[in-house]
Amino acid sequence: MKKVITAVLVTSSIASLSLAFALGADEATSFKSAVRESKLLSLAAREKAIDLGYEAFKKKVYKESFPGGVYIVNGDTPVADEKELMDFYQREIVAEWKSTKFGIALGQGATTQLILDAPNGNPAAWDNVSKRNLTYCISKTFGSNYTKTLQAIQSATQAWEAVADVRFVHVDSLDGQCDASTPGVVFDVRPVNVGGEYLARAFFPRYARPQRNVLIDDSSFTLKPGKLELAGILRHELGHTLGYRHEQTRPEAGKCFEDKNWVPLTSYDAFSVMHYPQCNGLGDWSLTLTQKDKLGAACLYGPASGSSFKPDSCNSI
Ligand SMILES: [Zn+2]
Repeated sequence: MKKVITAVLVTSSIASLSLAFALGADEATSFKSAVRESKLLSLAAREKAIDLGYEAFKKKVYKESFPGGVYIVNGDTPVADEKELMDFYQREIVAEWKSTKFGIALGQGATTQLILDAPNGNPAAWDNVSKRNLTYCISKTFGSNYTKTLQAIQSATQAWEAVADVRFVHVDSLDGQCDASTPGVVFDVRPVNVGGEYLARAFFPRYARPQRNVLIDDSSFTLKPGKLELAGILRHELGHTLGYRHEQTRPEAGKCFEDKNWVPLTSYDAFSVMHYPQCNGLGDWSLTLTQKDKLGAACLYGPASGSSFKPDSCNSI
């Protein structure tokens, strides 16, 4: 069994190496992190994971080592506890493998895009009150990186606020006591050191307060100048906080499939800010919002005031 798994690892590292030439070291690091999870969740790897059993699967899933740390799947998606990880294993590994084995089509077909978190088909987004009061604090423990973080968060929140009727509110009076249990905010933004396992990770609207964190790894502050920068990473992560899933889980991507717990908001968008470039994405590492990202967000949450938006365009994006 170990030998088979090794073969999978070798295949991934070859892909990683070739991409390193095309992208540069920082993007390659991000790629490595994403591939680590996507390879675990590839259809072939699912079969191996079933052979090995849950305990062996659990050992392969990265778990944050700090107090309150959670399991991470799909590159940057937290799984709150062991019960949820077992559910994930049953649902996304075992059930998905059975589905494929018996020829049931994955995903929602070829006409469907920006996609929304929807466990068991139930869409999970912010309600009309919450969406305008997405309060957060930024931990002062960022130290010398605090100002850089603040500016990047503001840039990322403005990108989403410019296109949809959502409002992120920085409660700076709580920055000095900003952690996973801070009351009075919807989520906290804190530094972590996970050694580049991920650049940052966030949460979905349905998560409970202790898991509603945007955690930024130290490696995000040492990126070499290039297209991948903190504001772009946070545009992607804040997309998750609004409920958006990775675009590459759509069957049209043909790579990095995650699961079927989502509903489409737009047609497939290979350029989406929510699409990992290394998963057959066509966007680059600047991670900017595409026209479809903008329309999808406006159709879900309503348009930003003053934006030129035609509601009937939601029928054809
Ligand atoms: Zn992500």
